[in-house]
Amino acid sequence: MAYQISDECIACGACEAECPVNAISEGDGKYVIDADTCIECGACAGVCPVSAPHEA
Ligand code: SF4
Ligand code: SF4
Repeated sequence: MAYQISDECIACGACEAECPVNAISEGDGKYVIDADTCIECGACAGVCPVSAPHEA
């Protein structure tokens, strides 16, 4: 399963640059992960200050 970003996201943008497959983009009030593109590497979870990205 792809990673998902929870509502804890503060839209800091840190995860977007870390994603090796560019699966993360800015959504409405928070960042979102394209489930079809995510390869479940966990890099986004590693850089997020509020631990918003999690395995679905
Ligand atoms: Fe990108 Fe990896 Fe996060 Fe998936 S788990 S969104 S591939 S950084
Ligand atoms: Fe949201 Fe965390 Fe990504 Fe920042 S690093 S945009 S808080 S999910």
